[in-house]
Amino acid sequence: MDLKKLAVFLEENGVPAFRLKQVRDAVYKNFAASWEEISVLPSALRERLPRQFRVHTLDTLETQVSKKGNAIKFCFELKGGLKIESVLLNIMPEKWSLCVSTQAGCPVRCPFCATGRKGLKRNLSPEEISDQFLAAAHYLKVTRAQKISGVIFMGMGEPFLNYEAVSAAIKTITDPDLIGLGARHVSVSTAGHVPGIRRFAKDFPQCNLAISLQAVEDALRSDLVPLNRNYPLSQLSRALRDYITTTKRRVFVEYVMLDGVNNSRSTAARLNSWLRAVAAPKYFTVNLIPYNRTGGPYKAPARERIKIFSELLGSLGLEVTVRKSLGEDIAGACGQLAGK
Ligand code: SF4
Repeated sequence: MDLKKLAVFLEENGVPAFRLKQVRDAVYKNFAASWEEISVLPSALRERLPRQFRVHTLDTLETQVSKKGNAIKFCFELKGGLKIESVLLNIMPEKWSLCVSTQAGCPVRCPFCATGRKGLKRNLSPEEISDQFLAAAHYLKVTRAQKISGVIFMGMGEPFLNYEAVSAAIKTITDPDLIGLGARHVSVSTAGHVPGIRRFAKDFPQCNLAISLQAVEDALRSDLVPLNRNYPLSQLSRALRDYITTTKRRVFVEYVMLDGVNNSRSTAARLNSWLRAVAAPKYFTVNLIPYNRTGGPYKAPARERIKIFSELLGSLGLEVTVRKSLGEDIAGACGQLAGK
């Protein structure tokens, strides 16, 4: 919802200012998804507003729940007909994190990712990003009486290639007068957009940063994460060092494991050396993400090989987690979002 436009409309129509706060609280605090739900408004106003304003800037086309019930994927339609997806992930009992999209498609074109194969259609507006949160929060309230406790900018798109809109959406999500989620519960994952990392360190030092790394050699990383051709590992390494110096925060390193490509013992040792050259191991958590099928030429390593890789990094002093794949059966796992 565009609150500024709504404020102007209400003022021009002689509606008292307190009505704006009532709408704001109903939509951002209580997750009302339609004007009919905002029953504190006089009925004449409730009838007029839908002709001028939509509560959400996107329509929910489909909601899919995984067999285990721990992942819920939303397919949203944007104005103009493009489709995007968001996924709610039940990481711990009653704790839901929402993975949001920042672009329709993605220009980075990582070959292991379903979104990348579509290329970029367009950037999302700030409201189209924050409204994914509002729509998913409404769904959780109505179906389970539960709330979203974290948000991850890791859905479709490279967040720092749409920095202004992402920044405005983070402000909406963390503003105590709006959604009011703590900044420490907000994470942004980048494929390594160096100017974005530098701005993010200054603008949002309390939020979390994740890097989608996948490789620590330029040739391989440029194949797997083509943004590396613009911002090679030497630049990424400096930006991460500066980020850690400025924020004193831990960086989450996302590492999609592709069998026979980036999962050997020697690769684990090189990954460890690369991270140590950036900062002390206490500043990193390495999340190993077994590849989820997206129809490309890759496959996930066997469980045993993931274990060996993980234990090797652990023995070198790094904190390592192996990401449980939630939502693979609804194509809602990492790399699978395609807005079909
Ligand atoms: S992995 Fe991320 S950056 Fe790469 S194509 Fe997919 S959405 Fe874009």
